[in-house]
Amino acid sequence: MQPSLNGGQAGLIEQVIAPGLCVGCGACVGLCPYQEYKDGRIVVIDRCHAENSRCYLICPQCAGGTEKPGGVQEEISVPDGIGPCLEIHMARGTDDEITAGGQYGGMVSSLLVRSLESGVVDNVVLTTKGGSEAPAGTLARSREEILACAGSRYNSAGTLAAMNRAYGNGVTRMAVVGLPCQMIALERLAKMQPDGAERSRAVELKLGLFCTWALDYRSLRHFLKSEGIDAPARKYDIPPPPAARFDVDTLQGMRHFPLDEIRPAIQKGCRICRDMTAEYADISIGAAEGYPGWNTVLVRTETGRRLFADSCAANLVEVRPLPEANLEHLAEAARNKRRRGEEALSEIRGGRS
Ligand SMILES: Cc1cc2nc3c(=O)[nH]c(=O)nc-3n(C[C@H](O)[C@H](O)[C@H](O)COP(=O)(O)OP(=O)(O)OC[C@H]3O[C@@H](n4cnc5c(N)ncnc54)[C@H](O)[C@@H]3O)c2cc1C
Ligand code: SF4
Ligand code: SF4
Repeated sequence: MQPSLNGGQAGLIEQVIAPGLCVGCGACVGLCPYQEYKDGRIVVIDRCHAENSRCYLICPQCAGGTEKPGGVQEEISVPDGIGPCLEIHMARGTDDEITAGGQYGGMVSSLLVRSLESGVVDNVVLTTKGGSEAPAGTLARSREEILACAGSRYNSAGTLAAMNRAYGNGVTRMAVVGLPCQMIALERLAKMQPDGAERSRAVELKLGLFCTWALDYRSLRHFLKSEGIDAPARKYDIPPPPAARFDVDTLQGMRHFPLDEIRPAIQKGCRICRDMTAEYADISIGAAEGYPGWNTVLVRTETGRRLFADSCAANLVEVRPLPEANLEHLAEAARNKRRRGEEALSEIRGGRS
């Protein structure tokens, strides 16, 4: 289906929401009063008849796309697929208090604590753990609030709605942690009319997470409930291949599920996603396959380089070279995701992104 030319909410509904391609990034929530994040999903609560509107311009799933990440002066040679990088490392946080609740090496939390405590930013847009409610975006202003959000929720959580809400309340000097689609939304934000550039200046730092896919929160909840898991889990994990497992650390102990059992809960919109390593972030962070407790770290911009160097100098981060085999495998996985995404996009929209 070719997308219509409407660049307003009607276009957003036609191209993204109605066909089930919304990935719950939250970027359109709070830009106008017509979309809300409710119980893990984005809902349209009223119709807008503008021909062009911010929700369309910011949505990473709408046609229009993004330019290739660029502007990097000293790009090192990297295998095709992972986007521009200034530096590539394997790293982990060294402060036990910070890393204790981290997903792997606690690099995201370590860099955030440093950015807050050294005054690079004053506020951090993060994703709550959820509990009786769906995980959602929140604004952290202290070490404790950052640590309260550590770990991965493998579902989309409308996180960027918290950024829009904060901006509406006059908050600037923000760091944002998000998935690749959320980094793309931030890239589109910078070009969004009429006030995208101004809004974009409120974000000083972008930390991107690697992502292969995310689950739909309600489908995940339904799955867990059907398996007798009613209470909030302490931690989720998808160990690297060849494990093919989804692990849930419940209050009653660990449960392991074959990945194939959880796959039906993957968001349909993730099928057309072409970015695995958050190419538009200042620093992108994922697992380091084969090295439990470590992260792969791709430093992409000067902003990222300054923070990474400063965190190392403050002894908050331990660094090692990323083994060549890990880099090759990551690049291959990223290329495969791009290819699958392009094929799915062609199938759905005749190739227009
Ligand atoms: C949906 C999803 C899919 C992922 N897929 C992969 C993958 O295929 N390969 C890979 O190597 N890594 C993947 N990751 C990243 C990985 O799980 C870790 O987040 C990353 O390695 C950082 O680890 P850490 O120890 O530094 O994190 P921590 O220091 O624990 O920090 C994690 C941060 O992630 C934020 N966060 C948690 N859940 C979400 C969410 N749903 N949306 C946005 N932000 C969130 C938290 O607010 C926290 O700040 C995925 C993460 C998510 C959320
Ligand atoms: S993908 Fe993001 S911006 Fe697009 S409709 Fe969904 S929540 Fe809104
Ligand atoms: S696969 Fe892409 S669209 Fe889906 S959650 Fe991950 S980054 Fe977002």
